[in-house]
Amino acid sequence: MNDCIFCKINQGIIPSEKLYEDDMFFVIRDINPKAKLHYLAIPKNHYKLFSQMTENDQANLGKIIKKISEIAPSLGLSNGYRLIVNQGEDAVQTVFHLHIHILGGERLPV
Ligand code: AMP
Ligand code: ZN
Repeated sequence: MNDCIFCKINQGIIPSEKLYEDDMFFVIRDINPKAKLHYLAIPKNHYKLFSQMTENDQANLGKIIKKISEIAPSLGLSNGYRLIVNQGEDAVQTVFHLHIHILGGERLPV
């Protein structure tokens, strides 16, 4: 966990503009955007996979998804968006701290 880039962003050790933050998670822009708008919603608690969630993580994730729907307009996503969560090697997960990709701002490929 000490080497985790998202934990370091959470702690302010690596600077990143937090577009939204509450006690459960924060939202930043993806450094390598795959759509016109590409954000990451990052739970503050460190875990890699859904399979490693505690009951508290599980409850928080539901609240985080609901909150994403509430802040979507302020992120320029009033016309819809796509959520992606990569899990493990076959998904080519590269940061091993669970995060939700939020893509939008344009018509995404099917
Ligand atoms: P994943 O492949 O699902 O693990 O996604 C990790 C994402 O984190 C990639 O889309 C990267 O572009 C993004 N990323 C890595 N480092 C940073 C950073 N310092 N700030 C913002 N996004 C980052
Ligand atoms: Zn972490």
